[in-house]
Amino acid sequence: MALYYNEHTILYHNGEYLQASEVKIDLYSQTLHYGYGVFEGIRSYKAENGSTRIFKAVEHYERLKNSANALNIPYHYSSGELIKATYEVLTRNNLQDAYIRPLVYAPANMSFIKNTVSNIVIAVWEMAPFLGDKLLKVMTSSFQRPNPKGFKIEAKATGHYVNSILASQEAKANGYDEALLNDMNGYVAEGPGANVFFERNGKLITPPEGNILPGITRATVVEICNKLNIPVVEKLFTTEELRNADAAFFCGTAAEVIGWESLDGVNFRKPWNESLGRIIQQAYKDRVIEFREHEESKKEKANLLVTE
Ligand code: PMP
Repeated sequence: MALYYNEHTILYHNGEYLQASEVKIDLYSQTLHYGYGVFEGIRSYKAENGSTRIFKAVEHYERLKNSANALNIPYHYSSGELIKATYEVLTRNNLQDAYIRPLVYAPANMSFIKNTVSNIVIAVWEMAPFLGDKLLKVMTSSFQRPNPKGFKIEAKATGHYVNSILASQEAKANGYDEALLNDMNGYVAEGPGANVFFERNGKLITPPEGNILPGITRATVVEICNKLNIPVVEKLFTTEELRNADAAFFCGTAAEVIGWESLDGVNFRKPWNESLGRIIQQAYKDRVIEFREHEESKKEKANLLVTE
């Protein structure tokens, strides 16, 4: 408990700001029993001018809405109102560098029938900025990512994370830091909670959409590459090809950009500090604390105005 909240922590629940320790969730929720819910993982940073900035707030809340729609979960919130509520929760908890966890969960329903209502909670907790300085020992998982014909793989659904937990625990039990999962056809897909890129001959390569969660950090990495004139290619590849790469990294909201030391015990030939990933990692760190009129913050404002 102490890790995420204490008796002073405030969260947002269905339009109200409540003490985290007081909020009660229905034990008969369809989400708890069947993994039928959607969520987001967002981060806020203390920006270079001292203000608090939620990174890619609009993109995350739009993805939450799309995830809910994909699963037929009623969603009666606007991104603008939720972004406002998130800033308010951060202020009430006196947090700037934080992890933000919105969760849309179902009411009591032990059947498989569609609901007419849903609940939303937005919890926040402290997160130290820039975790990604150590290099990862990665293991090819014996688990595959879920079949996109069995799941809405592009949605961030709670139940999908059973697969992530199994893969991550397997990697750790075998002495590795993290897992790498293939898709159902044997091509590299992603990590349990992050997308993957590798470097080969001055280019970055990443799997296309279809068998991955299309990450917001992945899109930011592509944005950075375009700005720095680093070529990026989306294509399917195998672990064989990845083991022959010059360097590789994971990227995700929580992990940011984090380099790999090895895959299945084989070290990459380029030192991380000389890799393209290292350049991207630095650019990403700068990017999240920038306080400029980015396209994204313009969109954020436009969105807020619509709901006011
Ligand atoms: N893939 C999976 C399975 C994830 O859980 C995450 C984390 N949300 C990502 C990729 C990276 O997505 P993002 O950059 O939007 O955090």
